[in-house]
Amino acid sequence: MRVVDLIRRKRDSGELTRDEIEELIAAYTRGDIPDYQMSAWLMAVVLRGMTRPEIAALTEAMLHSGCVLDFSGLPGRKVDKHSTGGVGDKPSLVIAPIVAAGGVKVPMISGRGLGHSGGTLDKLESIPGFNVNLSLADFRRVLETCGCALIGQTAEIAPADKKIYALRDVTGTVESPALICASIMSKKLAEGIDALVLDVKTGSGAFMKKIEDAVNLAELLVDTGKRMGKNVVALLTDMNQPLGRKAGNAMEVAESIEVLNGAGPPDLRELCLELAAWMFFLGQRVKSVEEGKKLSADLIASGHAREKFREIVGLQGGDMGVIDVGGGREKKEDTIDPAVGLEFHKRIGDTVERGEPLCTLHYNAEGRLEEARNLVETAYQIEQEKPKVVPPLIHRVIGA
Ligand code: URA
Repeated sequence: MRVVDLIRRKRDSGELTRDEIEELIAAYTRGDIPDYQMSAWLMAVVLRGMTRPEIAALTEAMLHSGCVLDFSGLPGRKVDKHSTGGVGDKPSLVIAPIVAAGGVKVPMISGRGLGHSGGTLDKLESIPGFNVNLSLADFRRVLETCGCALIGQTAEIAPADKKIYALRDVTGTVESPALICASIMSKKLAEGIDALVLDVKTGSGAFMKKIEDAVNLAELLVDTGKRMGKNVVALLTDMNQPLGRKAGNAMEVAESIEVLNGAGPPDLRELCLELAAWMFFLGQRVKSVEEGKKLSADLIASGHAREKFREIVGLQGGDMGVIDVGGGREKKEDTIDPAVGLEFHKRIGDTVERGEPLCTLHYNAEGRLEEARNLVETAYQIEQEKPKVVPPLIHRVIGA
Protein backbone atom coordinates (compact mmCIF):
# COMPACT_ATOMS: atom_id res chain seq x y z
CA MET A 1 0.00 0.00 0.00
CA ARG A 2 1.32 3.43 -0.96
CA VAL A 3 -0.36 6.01 1.25
CA VAL A 4 -0.04 8.69 -1.41
CA ASP A 5 -2.18 6.54 -3.75
CA LEU A 6 -4.93 6.34 -1.12
CA ILE A 7 -4.78 10.11 -0.59
CA ARG A 8 -5.01 10.70 -4.36
CA ARG A 9 -7.90 8.31 -4.78
CA LYS A 10 -9.92 9.95 -2.01
CA ARG A 11 -9.01 13.40 -3.33
CA ASP A 12 -10.51 12.35 -6.68
CA SER A 13 -13.71 11.05 -4.99
CA GLY A 14 -12.73 7.40 -5.32
CA GLU A 15 -13.59 4.62 -2.90
CA LEU A 16 -11.13 2.70 -0.71
CA THR A 17 -11.47 -1.01 -0.04
CA ARG A 18 -11.96 -2.47 3.43
CA ASP A 19 -8.41 -3.88 3.36
CA GLU A 20 -6.91 -0.54 2.40
CA ILE A 21 -8.73 1.26 5.20
CA GLU A 22 -7.71 -1.40 7.74
CA GLU A 23 -4.07 -1.15 6.69
CA LEU A 24 -4.10 2.65 6.72
CA ILE A 25 -5.49 2.83 10.27
CA ALA A 26 -3.29 0.06 11.63
CA ALA A 27 -0.14 1.59 10.11
CA TYR A 28 -0.98 5.08 11.42
CA THR A 29 -1.68 3.75 14.92
CA ARG A 30 1.68 1.93 14.89
CA GLY A 31 3.42 5.17 13.93
CA ASP A 32 4.36 3.99 10.42
CA ILE A 33 2.54 6.81 8.63
CA PRO A 34 3.52 10.44 9.27
CA ASP A 35 0.95 12.96 10.50
CA TYR A 36 1.23 15.02 7.28
CA GLN A 37 0.02 12.11 5.14
CA MET A 38 -2.77 11.20 7.53
CA SER A 39 -3.84 14.87 7.65
CA ALA A 40 -3.99 15.02 3.86
CA TRP A 41 -6.12 11.88 3.75
CA LEU A 42 -8.44 13.21 6.49
CA MET A 43 -8.88 16.47 4.59
CA ALA A 44 -9.72 14.53 1.43
CA VAL A 45 -12.41 12.70 3.46
CA VAL A 46 -13.80 15.99 4.78
CA LEU A 47 -14.08 17.34 1.23
CA ARG A 48 -15.16 14.17 -0.62
CA GLY A 49 -16.98 12.14 2.03
CA MET A 50 -17.08 8.37 2.40
CA THR A 51 -19.50 5.69 1.31
CA ARG A 52 -21.43 3.70 3.95
CA PRO A 53 -19.22 0.60 3.47
CA GLU A 54 -16.12 2.78 3.82
CA ILE A 55 -17.49 4.30 7.05
CA ALA A 56 -18.25 0.83 8.44
CA ALA A 57 -14.72 -0.34 7.53
CA LEU A 58 -13.17 2.76 9.14
CA THR A 59 -15.24 2.28 12.31
CA GLU A 60 -14.23 -1.38 12.57
CA ALA A 61 -10.57 -0.61 11.92
CA MET A 62 -10.59 2.01 14.68
CA LEU A 63 -12.54 -0.25 17.02
CA HIS A 64 -10.05 -3.10 16.58
CA SER A 65 -7.05 -0.82 17.06
CA GLY A 66 -7.59 -1.48 20.77
CA CYS A 67 -9.38 -3.96 22.96
CA VAL A 68 -13.07 -4.71 22.68
CA LEU A 69 -14.60 -5.45 26.06
CA ASP A 70 -16.48 -8.70 26.45
CA PHE A 71 -19.23 -8.73 29.05
CA SER A 72 -21.01 -11.76 27.61
CA GLY A 73 -20.28 -13.58 30.87
CA LEU A 74 -22.43 -11.06 32.76
CA PRO A 75 -26.13 -11.94 32.74
CA GLY A 76 -28.54 -9.61 30.96
CA ARG A 77 -28.29 -7.18 28.09
CA LYS A 78 -25.81 -4.34 28.07
CA VAL A 79 -27.03 -1.03 26.70
CA ASP A 80 -25.47 2.42 26.52
CA LYS A 81 -26.47 5.88 25.43
CA HIS A 82 -24.46 8.56 23.65
CA SER A 83 -25.25 12.21 23.07
CA THR A 84 -23.66 14.51 20.52
CA GLY A 85 -23.75 17.21 23.23
CA GLY A 86 -25.23 20.60 23.90
CA VAL A 87 -25.90 23.20 26.59
CA GLY A 88 -27.22 21.72 29.84
CA ASP A 89 -27.10 18.25 28.31
CA LYS A 90 -27.11 16.01 31.38
CA PRO A 91 -29.45 13.01 30.82
CA SER A 92 -26.59 10.45 31.09
CA LEU A 93 -26.32 11.22 34.81
CA VAL A 94 -30.02 10.50 35.28
CA ILE A 95 -30.65 7.60 32.96
CA ALA A 96 -27.60 5.47 33.75
CA PRO A 97 -28.86 4.86 37.33
CA ILE A 98 -32.50 4.50 36.20
CA VAL A 99 -31.64 1.82 33.65
CA ALA A 100 -29.25 -0.01 35.98
CA ALA A 101 -31.90 0.07 38.72
CA GLY A 102 -34.27 -1.57 36.22
CA GLY A 103 -31.88 -4.48 35.66
CA VAL A 104 -30.22 -3.59 32.34
CA LYS A 105 -26.42 -3.22 32.52
CA VAL A 106 -24.93 0.14 31.53
CA PRO A 107 -21.18 0.09 30.75
CA MET A 108 -20.71 3.76 29.91
CA ILE A 109 -17.47 5.17 28.47
CA SER A 110 -17.96 8.91 28.12
CA GLY A 111 -16.10 11.92 26.84
CA ARG A 112 -15.03 15.31 28.06
CA GLY A 113 -16.40 18.66 26.97
CA LEU A 114 -16.17 19.56 23.33
CA GLY A 115 -16.39 23.22 22.32
CA HIS A 116 -19.12 24.91 24.34
CA SER A 117 -20.66 21.71 25.70
CA GLY A 118 -19.55 20.04 28.94
CA GLY A 119 -18.85 16.32 28.93
CA THR A 120 -20.29 13.69 31.27
CA LEU A 121 -16.83 13.11 32.77
CA ASP A 122 -16.39 16.78 33.70
CA LYS A 123 -19.79 16.74 35.38
CA LEU A 124 -19.07 13.56 37.33
CA GLU A 125 -15.73 14.93 38.46
CA SER A 126 -17.51 17.81 40.15
CA ILE A 127 -18.62 15.21 42.72
CA PRO A 128 -15.76 15.24 45.26
CA GLY A 129 -13.67 12.07 44.97
CA PHE A 130 -15.51 10.58 41.97
CA ASN A 131 -12.96 8.61 39.94
CA VAL A 132 -13.65 8.42 36.19
CA ASN A 133 -10.21 6.90 35.51
CA LEU A 134 -10.90 3.35 36.64
CA SER A 135 -8.81 0.58 35.13
CA LEU A 136 -10.75 -1.76 32.86
CA ALA A 137 -10.60 -4.39 35.64
CA ASP A 138 -12.23 -1.95 38.09
CA PHE A 139 -14.72 -0.87 35.42
CA ARG A 140 -15.81 -4.51 35.16
CA ARG A 141 -15.91 -4.91 38.94
CA VAL A 142 -18.17 -1.85 39.42
CA LEU A 143 -20.38 -2.96 36.53
CA GLU A 144 -20.72 -6.45 38.04
CA THR A 145 -21.46 -5.05 41.48
CA CYS A 146 -24.11 -2.46 40.69
CA GLY A 147 -25.01 -2.82 36.99
CA CYS A 148 -23.46 0.46 35.87
CA ALA A 149 -20.03 2.04 35.66
CA LEU A 150 -19.05 5.42 34.23
CA ILE A 151 -15.52 6.04 33.00
CA GLY A 152 -13.48 7.90 30.37
CA GLN A 153 -11.71 6.48 27.33
CA THR A 154 -8.68 4.47 28.51
CA ALA A 155 -5.45 3.93 26.54
CA GLU A 156 -6.74 0.47 25.57
CA ILE A 157 -10.01 1.68 24.02
CA ALA A 158 -9.83 2.72 20.34
CA PRO A 159 -6.28 4.17 20.43
CA ALA A 160 -6.58 4.95 16.70
CA ASP A 161 -9.44 7.33 17.49
CA LYS A 162 -7.42 9.04 20.21
CA LYS A 163 -4.52 9.66 17.82
CA ILE A 164 -6.67 10.63 14.83
CA TYR A 165 -8.94 12.88 16.91
CA ALA A 166 -5.92 14.83 18.20
CA LEU A 167 -4.79 15.34 14.59
CA ARG A 168 -8.28 16.33 13.41
CA ASP A 169 -8.48 18.90 16.15
CA VAL A 170 -5.48 20.82 14.77
CA THR A 171 -6.00 20.27 11.04
CA GLY A 172 -9.56 21.51 10.59
CA THR A 173 -10.86 18.00 9.96
CA VAL A 174 -13.32 17.51 12.82
CA GLU A 175 -16.37 18.51 10.78
CA SER A 176 -16.92 15.39 8.72
CA PRO A 177 -20.01 13.23 9.36
CA ALA A 178 -18.04 10.13 8.29
CA LEU A 179 -15.16 10.84 10.66
CA ILE A 180 -17.49 11.83 13.52
CA CYS A 181 -19.48 8.63 13.02
CA ALA A 182 -16.39 6.38 13.03
CA SER A 183 -14.97 8.20 16.04
CA ILE A 184 -18.13 7.90 18.15
CA MET A 185 -19.04 4.37 17.14
CA SER A 186 -15.53 2.90 17.50
CA LYS A 187 -15.52 3.95 21.16
CA LYS A 188 -19.09 2.93 21.90
CA LEU A 189 -18.82 -0.47 20.21
CA ALA A 190 -15.67 -1.22 22.25
CA GLU A 191 -17.84 -1.24 25.39
CA GLY A 192 -19.16 -4.74 24.74
CA ILE A 193 -22.77 -3.52 24.41
CA ASP A 194 -25.73 -5.20 22.73
CA ALA A 195 -27.57 -1.98 21.96
CA LEU A 196 -27.10 1.77 21.85
CA VAL A 197 -29.45 4.75 22.13
CA LEU A 198 -28.17 7.91 20.48
CA ASP A 199 -29.27 11.43 21.33
CA VAL A 200 -28.41 13.51 18.26
CA LYS A 201 -28.93 17.19 19.00
CA THR A 202 -29.94 19.79 16.47
CA GLY A 203 -30.37 23.56 16.72
CA SER A 204 -28.41 26.69 17.53
CA GLY A 205 -26.67 25.20 20.60
CA ALA A 206 -25.75 21.90 18.89
CA PHE A 207 -22.83 20.99 16.65
CA MET A 208 -25.32 20.06 13.94
CA LYS A 209 -27.24 23.33 13.59
CA LYS A 210 -29.35 22.24 10.63
CA ILE A 211 -31.84 19.43 11.00
CA GLU A 212 -30.78 17.86 7.64
CA ASP A 213 -27.20 17.55 8.94
CA ALA A 214 -28.38 16.01 12.19
CA VAL A 215 -30.59 13.54 10.29
CA ASN A 216 -27.66 12.61 8.07
CA LEU A 217 -25.37 11.99 11.06
CA ALA A 218 -28.09 10.05 12.91
CA GLU A 219 -28.64 7.82 9.87
CA LEU A 220 -24.92 7.16 9.51
CA LEU A 221 -24.58 6.26 13.20
CA VAL A 222 -27.59 3.94 13.14
CA ASP A 223 -26.56 2.28 9.88
CA THR A 224 -22.98 1.74 11.07
CA GLY A 225 -24.16 0.21 14.37
CA LYS A 226 -26.62 -2.07 12.60
CA ARG A 227 -23.98 -3.26 10.13
CA MET A 228 -22.02 -4.38 13.18
CA GLY A 229 -24.94 -6.35 14.56
CA LYS A 230 -26.03 -3.90 17.25
CA ASN A 231 -29.51 -2.60 17.98
CA VAL A 232 -29.28 1.16 17.54
CA VAL A 233 -31.81 3.97 17.53
CA ALA A 234 -31.24 7.71 17.38
CA LEU A 235 -33.52 10.32 18.90
CA LEU A 236 -33.20 13.65 17.14
CA THR A 237 -33.66 16.16 19.96
CA ASP A 238 -33.83 19.91 20.15
CA MET A 239 -30.93 22.15 21.16
CA ASN A 240 -32.34 25.57 20.23
CA GLN A 241 -32.42 26.25 23.96
CA PRO A 242 -30.63 24.70 26.95
CA LEU A 243 -31.90 21.42 28.32
CA GLY A 244 -33.30 21.95 31.81
CA ARG A 245 -32.66 25.10 33.81
CA LYS A 246 -28.99 24.74 34.67
CA ALA A 247 -25.69 24.63 32.79
CA GLY A 248 -22.31 24.20 34.48
CA ASN A 249 -20.75 20.98 35.72
CA ALA A 250 -21.69 20.98 39.42
CA MET A 251 -25.01 22.69 38.81
CA GLU A 252 -25.92 19.99 36.29
CA VAL A 253 -25.15 17.24 38.79
CA ALA A 254 -27.46 19.01 41.25
CA GLU A 255 -30.22 19.27 38.64
CA SER A 256 -29.83 15.60 37.71
CA ILE A 257 -30.31 14.67 41.36
CA GLU A 258 -33.47 16.81 41.38
CA VAL A 259 -34.85 14.62 38.57
CA LEU A 260 -33.84 11.44 40.43
CA ASN A 261 -35.74 12.88 43.41
CA GLY A 262 -38.91 13.06 41.31
CA ALA A 263 -38.69 16.80 40.63
CA GLY A 264 -36.56 18.82 38.21
CA PRO A 265 -37.56 20.72 35.07
CA PRO A 266 -40.25 19.04 32.91
CA ASP A 267 -38.22 19.04 29.66
CA LEU A 268 -35.25 17.34 31.29
CA ARG A 269 -37.42 14.77 33.06
CA GLU A 270 -39.34 14.04 29.85
CA LEU A 271 -36.20 13.50 27.76
CA CYS A 272 -34.65 11.30 30.46
CA LEU A 273 -37.78 9.14 30.64
CA GLU A 274 -37.86 8.80 26.86
CA LEU A 275 -34.15 7.89 26.51
CA ALA A 276 -34.29 5.45 29.45
CA ALA A 277 -37.44 3.90 27.93
CA TRP A 278 -35.62 3.25 24.65
CA MET A 279 -32.73 1.69 26.57
CA PHE A 280 -35.14 -0.64 28.39
CA PHE A 281 -36.83 -1.48 25.09
CA LEU A 282 -33.59 -2.26 23.24
CA GLY A 283 -32.39 -4.08 26.35
CA GLN A 284 -35.46 -6.33 26.01
CA ARG A 285 -36.56 -5.45 29.53
CA VAL A 286 -39.95 -4.17 28.31
CA LYS A 287 -42.18 -4.85 25.30
CA SER A 288 -42.78 -1.24 24.29
CA VAL A 289 -41.28 2.21 24.73
CA GLU A 290 -44.44 3.26 26.60
CA GLU A 291 -43.88 0.46 29.10
CA GLY A 292 -40.26 1.57 29.40
CA LYS A 293 -41.39 5.11 30.25
CA LYS A 294 -43.68 3.84 32.96
CA LEU A 295 -40.93 1.63 34.39
CA SER A 296 -38.53 4.60 34.40
CA ALA A 297 -41.06 6.83 36.17
CA ASP A 298 -41.72 4.07 38.75
CA LEU A 299 -38.00 3.65 39.42
CA ILE A 300 -37.76 7.38 40.14
CA ALA A 301 -40.92 7.44 42.30
CA SER A 302 -39.79 4.46 44.39
CA GLY A 303 -36.37 6.03 45.04
CA HIS A 304 -34.59 3.04 43.46
CA ALA A 305 -32.95 5.14 40.74
CA ARG A 306 -31.63 7.66 43.27
CA GLU A 307 -30.29 4.84 45.48
CA LYS A 308 -28.59 3.31 42.43
CA PHE A 309 -26.87 6.63 41.75
CA ARG A 310 -25.70 6.71 45.37
CA GLU A 311 -24.29 3.18 44.96
CA ILE A 312 -22.43 4.11 41.75
CA VAL A 313 -20.99 7.27 43.32
CA GLY A 314 -19.80 5.27 46.37
CA LEU A 315 -18.24 2.48 44.30
CA GLN A 316 -16.35 5.01 42.19
CA GLY A 317 -14.95 6.79 45.24
CA GLY A 318 -17.29 9.79 45.22
CA ASP A 319 -18.86 11.61 48.17
CA MET A 320 -22.28 10.00 48.55
CA GLY A 321 -23.39 13.04 50.55
CA VAL A 322 -24.05 14.91 47.30
CA ILE A 323 -27.13 12.77 46.73
CA ASP A 324 -28.74 14.04 49.93
CA VAL A 325 -27.90 17.73 49.61
CA GLY A 326 -29.56 17.74 46.19
CA GLY A 327 -29.93 20.78 44.02
CA GLY A 328 -30.51 24.45 44.44
CA ARG A 329 -27.90 25.16 47.09
CA GLU A 330 -26.08 28.44 47.02
CA LYS A 331 -23.60 28.35 49.92
CA LYS A 332 -19.87 27.88 49.30
CA GLU A 333 -19.59 25.19 51.94
CA ASP A 334 -22.22 22.98 50.28
CA THR A 335 -20.89 19.71 48.90
CA ILE A 336 -21.67 20.66 45.31
CA ASP A 337 -20.11 24.04 44.57
CA PRO A 338 -22.47 25.91 42.26
CA ALA A 339 -19.82 28.56 41.67
CA VAL A 340 -19.76 28.56 37.88
CA GLY A 341 -22.67 28.17 35.56
CA LEU A 342 -25.94 29.55 34.31
CA GLU A 343 -29.46 29.25 35.61
CA PHE A 344 -32.15 29.88 33.03
CA HIS A 345 -35.48 31.32 34.19
CA LYS A 346 -37.28 31.59 30.86
CA ARG A 347 -37.80 29.24 27.95
CA ILE A 348 -38.76 29.91 24.33
CA GLY A 349 -42.37 31.14 24.28
CA ASP A 350 -42.52 32.20 27.96
CA THR A 351 -43.94 35.59 28.86
CA VAL A 352 -41.50 38.04 30.44
CA GLU A 353 -42.36 41.19 32.39
CA ARG A 354 -40.11 44.24 32.54
CA GLY A 355 -37.51 43.79 35.30
CA GLU A 356 -37.91 40.00 35.51
CA PRO A 357 -34.64 38.03 35.42
CA LEU A 358 -33.97 35.88 32.36
CA CYS A 359 -30.86 34.16 33.58
CA THR A 360 -28.62 34.08 36.68
CA LEU A 361 -24.86 33.87 36.20
CA HIS A 362 -22.88 32.08 38.91
CA TYR A 363 -19.25 33.13 38.56
CA ASN A 364 -15.95 33.12 40.40
CA ALA A 365 -13.73 35.21 38.11
CA GLU A 366 -14.80 38.86 38.11
CA GLY A 367 -12.65 39.61 35.04
CA ARG A 368 -14.70 37.37 32.76
CA LEU A 369 -18.14 38.42 33.97
CA GLU A 370 -18.65 41.17 31.40
CA GLU A 371 -17.92 38.90 28.46
CA ALA A 372 -20.25 36.23 29.84
CA ARG A 373 -23.00 38.77 30.51
CA ASN A 374 -22.79 40.06 26.92
CA LEU A 375 -22.94 36.58 25.47
CA VAL A 376 -25.99 35.71 27.56
CA GLU A 377 -27.74 38.96 26.71
CA THR A 378 -27.31 38.48 22.98
CA ALA A 379 -28.68 34.94 23.22
CA TYR A 380 -32.15 36.25 24.18
CA GLN A 381 -34.64 37.89 21.85
CA ILE A 382 -37.77 39.47 23.26
CA GLU A 383 -40.76 40.02 20.93
CA GLN A 384 -44.27 41.41 21.37
CA GLU A 385 -45.84 38.25 19.95
CA LYS A 386 -45.37 34.67 21.08
CA PRO A 387 -43.30 32.68 18.53
CA LYS A 388 -45.51 30.79 16.09
CA VAL A 389 -43.51 27.61 16.48
CA VAL A 390 -41.95 26.43 19.72
CA PRO A 391 -39.45 23.68 18.87
CA PRO A 392 -40.50 20.20 20.04
CA LEU A 393 -38.25 18.42 22.55
CA ILE A 394 -37.95 15.38 20.27
CA HIS A 395 -38.04 15.97 16.51
CA ARG A 396 -38.06 12.34 15.43
CA VAL A 397 -36.70 8.86 16.07
CA ILE A 398 -34.43 7.24 13.49
CA GLY A 399 -33.85 3.50 13.19
CA ALA A 400 -36.84 2.42 15.30
N1 URA B 1 -17.30 13.18 19.44
C1 URA B 1 -16.40 12.20 19.19
O1 URA B 1 -16.17 11.32 20.00
N2 URA B 1 -15.75 12.24 18.00
C2 URA B 1 -15.97 13.19 17.08
O2 URA B 1 -15.37 13.13 16.03
C3 URA B 1 -16.91 14.19 17.36
C4 URA B 1 -17.56 14.15 18.56
